[in-house]
Amino acid sequence: MKAPLLAALLLTAPLGAEIFSDSDLAIARELRESTLAGSGGFEIVEDLTTRIGPRLAGSEADPRAVEWAVAMLTELGFDRVWREPATFPTWSRGHEEVAVISPVEQDFEALAIGYSPATPPQGIEAEVVMFDDLAALEAAAADTLSGKIVFIRNRMQRARDGSGYGPAVQARARGAMVAAEKGAEAQLIRSIGTSSNRFAHTGGMRFDTAVRSLPAAAISNPDADQLERLIGLGEPVTIRMNIAAQINQAYTSHNVIAQIDGARYPEQIVALGAHLDSWDVGTGALDDGAGVAIVTEAAHRILQLDRRPDQSIQVILFAAEEIGLWGGRAFAQARSENIEQIHVAAESDFGAGPIYSMSARVIESARPVIEAIAAELEPLGIALTDSRRASAGPDFIPALPLGLAAVDLYQDGTNYFDYHHTENDTLDKIDPDALRQNAASYAVFAWLAAQSPRGFGSGSPLLEQERED
Ligand code: ZN
Ligand code: ZN
Repeated sequence: MKAPLLAALLLTAPLGAEIFSDSDLAIARELRESTLAGSGGFEIVEDLTTRIGPRLAGSEADPRAVEWAVAMLTELGFDRVWREPATFPTWSRGHEEVAVISPVEQDFEALAIGYSPATPPQGIEAEVVMFDDLAALEAAAADTLSGKIVFIRNRMQRARDGSGYGPAVQARARGAMVAAEKGAEAQLIRSIGTSSNRFAHTGGMRFDTAVRSLPAAAISNPDADQLERLIGLGEPVTIRMNIAAQINQAYTSHNVIAQIDGARYPEQIVALGAHLDSWDVGTGALDDGAGVAIVTEAAHRILQLDRRPDQSIQVILFAAEEIGLWGGRAFAQARSENIEQIHVAAESDFGAGPIYSMSARVIESARPVIEAIAAELEPLGIALTDSRRASAGPDFIPALPLGLAAVDLYQDGTNYFDYHHTENDTLDKIDPDALRQNAASYAVFAWLAAQSPRGFGSGSPLLEQERED
């Protein structure tokens, strides 16, 4: 047992020793081992998903979740805990019904898409027109869809890095608006998810009061297969859709922030993010209760050390991520004049699979720091990628144009989209061992980033420019 560990220390010591002091590296290793031996923060996500449960932004559960977060972070002993407002239009589901009424009759499993308007109370009955993807719908001639229900059939491909999501999700994010332009009555999509189970994956669509939208729903993937086969029979297929969703006036929720005060440079901040809200189906265990647990546990481990980090560490639990990054937008807006104070940021919002790689969007002079941090993550099975790309996670995206320095710790997302935004996103899907590995990774990253003698370049025009490619 001892020989390989010693060999690993000898291999990693020279690189890290040029950047970090011996005692900082020793603490990083101690944090790594002690966090791996701990709970990974499982009790945090258990409490959140049990006591609060589903917590759609702006729902009755929203303020309860904010109170829960403030109480939890205060009880853990952070130096300061506060909230920052984020205002957004709310959306509530009501109910949805999607059924084929001819040439056969069959109910589909469906979920309305966030910000979908309601259908008339009696519903809509119309013939379906199928498109391969959003681009095919965009190419359709202007008047050809009057009185029709558009169905976009694009399939999300399974991948460890979740790269199948981005191309497929366009159908959900913008499909209803494009279909409205073409005169359609409503829109259906194949669920943006990889499950073959008979439940739908919900999610948001872009909210823009200046553009007309349509009632829109996702149907389960087996039902999407069935609809394709029915259309393939060559007869017109008629569908009934009834959605009773509601969009309401502005609601103000809060980002909840907890800080460990830095001992030497308290105004410099290493920001760890996750989002507190979830969809209304499931209990938001993977998305993003796991992230709340991971970053809170990581920071709490650092809080329990005998010494404070040089720079401050913040845990930021964002509001209203799911329905449009509203908490992230408020966060960026509040820091538009002083983004350089956020030394570097990273968000955990990709479930609870083990982290396998790290990427950083920092100035070149900070690359040796990133390499030294990566060397301490390597024993956790994490490799540094050559890619200079990182978004720091969805809630930090609005701050990227300000030049925010970003680190991504990529989780294995092979199975994440089997559960994502479904009623099956529940606590039992979290693997406690993988949760511990995540928490240990964030603890090592946050500690060393807060001890870094060099800046990562936040606020630098160099990073603003990189954003453009
Ligand atoms: Zn999320
Ligand atoms: Zn989500």
